[in-house]
Amino acid sequence: MNCIRALVLSALLAALSTTPAAFASEFDQCLKSLRGQAGSRGVATATFDRHTQALAPDMGVIELLDFQPEFRTPIWDYMAGLVDEERVADGRAMLAEWSETLRAIEARFGVDAETVVAVWGVESNYGRSFGRRQVVTSLATLSCFGRRQDFFRGEFFTTLKILEEGHVDADALVGSWAGAFGHTQFMPSTFMRIAVDFDGDGRRDLLGSVPDALASTANYLKQSGWRTGQPWGHEVQLPRSFDTSQAGRRNKQPLSAWAARGVQRVDGAPLPATDAPAGLLLPAGPQGPAFLVLRNFDALFSYNAAESYALAIGHLADRLRGGGPFATPWPTDDPGLSREERREVQRLLLARGYDIGEVDGMIGTNTRRAIAALQAELGWEQDGRAGQRLLDTLRQTR
Ligand code: CA
Repeated sequence: MNCIRALVLSALLAALSTTPAAFASEFDQCLKSLRGQAGSRGVATATFDRHTQALAPDMGVIELLDFQPEFRTPIWDYMAGLVDEERVADGRAMLAEWSETLRAIEARFGVDAETVVAVWGVESNYGRSFGRRQVVTSLATLSCFGRRQDFFRGEFFTTLKILEEGHVDADALVGSWAGAFGHTQFMPSTFMRIAVDFDGDGRRDLLGSVPDALASTANYLKQSGWRTGQPWGHEVQLPRSFDTSQAGRRNKQPLSAWAARGVQRVDGAPLPATDAPAGLLLPAGPQGPAFLVLRNFDALFSYNAAESYALAIGHLADRLRGGGPFATPWPTDDPGLSREERREVQRLLLARGYDIGEVDGMIGTNTRRAIAALQAELGWEQDGRAGQRLLDTLRQTR
């Protein structure tokens, strides 16, 4: 709820302090200045002009600049939405459909099919959601307003370079508010360093070519130190009254050292008797699931710089291989919801007359506001969260 208030407040303040006309004029001035830098940034002025004609700023991206849901959502909500039965089933279908391509990718980059497909599933729901914003518009806006303009200017010019080289179609170039695009949501600078042409048509097309996108993801993980054949980690069981002060992804000790302290896999099997460095990850504290994470977890982490993200990818990959849910439950009496359950919450809210927009399984601002209003009716804390208890209550009182 604080996030929503902060968003509304920042939007109000922005509206009060500057009118849209002033934004437009400031944006035009900024574009003129950027145009002057195009040559030194390796972009032809003609390219700059072609892609910035009649460009208007999208101030929505400035509001999103300080809003990072990964860091404000309980881990059990985050995991429940990303690794649900639907994404596992869809991922298995993709493994079958693209098996030949994935075998070739594994042979060339040393990254297994399940891991590559898991990244695909989390980043774009297997190519179903690329984001809705024009990348050039978003990055031009972020180059001219808000914090980190220097960073986004680099991404903006790189995007123009990608278009100039003809890798992707300008009209199709949509992505996240921050400019990540394609099946596996690469930032433009990452594209330039990492993307590969795997279908051999001479273009590195991360929007139009599944082989290019999946191979580029495998290349990213390879460049990030992926160890072929190693797992990302293991869910483990700690001995009673285990000293967890040594926990932390970076605080690595040999697997054998953890085993010597009595750490076991959750199925009771001994840890592999190797000296592979592993960190103890306790994403919800000592009462929740515990993991020993290896070098490949760090490679996954580098994709999105969040431990919860790396855990979601690793876990989804395990599920795609036939593994089950985590053995230890999350330490909450109000578990998170799958996307199907989130859609059910939204349908039940609509039936009660709340305007939540379209039923999409995403608990965004409108859905959160509706939930907070319902929570007020129920006399609950108004955190706008869609959990199991809310769903049960909606089902019982419809
Ligand atoms: Ca290609």
